[in-house]
Amino acid sequence: MKSRISPNGLHIFDRHSGLNVLLDELRPEKEAWSLSPRQVSIALTNVCDLQCVYCYAPKHKAALHLEQVLTWLKELDAEGCLGVGFGGGEPTLHPDFVEICKRAAGETQLAVTFTTHGHHLTSQLVECLKGSIHFARISVDGVGQTYEEQRGKPFFSLLQGIELIADLSPFGINVVVNEQTVPELDAISELAEKAGASELLLLPQQATSSVASVNEVVNQDLQNWVSSYRGKVRLAVSEAGALGLPTCDPLPGERGLKSYAHIDASGVLRASSYSHIGAKIGDAGVMSSLKQLTNTVEIIQDTPS
Ligand code: SF4
Repeated sequence: MKSRISPNGLHIFDRHSGLNVLLDELRPEKEAWSLSPRQVSIALTNVCDLQCVYCYAPKHKAALHLEQVLTWLKELDAEGCLGVGFGGGEPTLHPDFVEICKRAAGETQLAVTFTTHGHHLTSQLVECLKGSIHFARISVDGVGQTYEEQRGKPFFSLLQGIELIADLSPFGINVVVNEQTVPELDAISELAEKAGASELLLLPQQATSSVASVNEVVNQDLQNWVSSYRGKVRLAVSEAGALGLPTCDPLPGERGLKSYAHIDASGVLRASSYSHIGAKIGDAGVMSSLKQLTNTVEIIQDTPS
């Protein structure tokens, strides 16, 4: 069990069960609030062997070092962070991926999660990771031919990846929602339920240099699908794409960098993986960069446009 002091109260979290308890009878003074974002995501490497058109990960060659990542995680852990999500690029292609997960789980109290396209999962890798991963996410953008067109990989290979991830830890399915995948949400949610996924995370497509963000038609189709959804798998949606969808925010006192921050594969701290504003993490550590980034973001927000 780990606790975090926030404007919303005392937040208790169990990384093994995923249970969150908020004691909101307590309203701690600002001076006592945990300084770290509640969650961080870390792009371990920009390397990926797929070429999804909607990919927003930077394409220059960059990867983080194991010791660097561990130092930051320990700092964040001590300041009240609850979990880290490793991504990329494709995090399983980082040469020290297993070691990073093992040490993160063993040397911090953080919940360790990662997101993968699933095509490099093997039973050996899963055996090595067991006990060090608290939740995993696998990307399923459509079924059958749609998946193959979107991701350029055989669908049967994805199904093998899903089977392996189900053997590793509780897991969720991520879906980039766009014109091609929105008609397949029923099939994807059925697959999620059959595979034993505990969450279906909807990621409405964001604009990149190659694609536009979801249009109004897709957005409306998504809203209609969510309203009529009766499946058993819990739905979640990315903050960036939640417009018009029924969402709840149980921790309204923690927004922006208080709730989440991203570290890219070049060691730059950002408000999200899409954000163009960042603070390089130097020798002073990640909390110092967080302070710097928070000041920059506040100055921008206060500047009249
Ligand atoms: S699998 Fe993920 S990281 Fe790789 S190209 Fe596709 S979206 Fe980008």
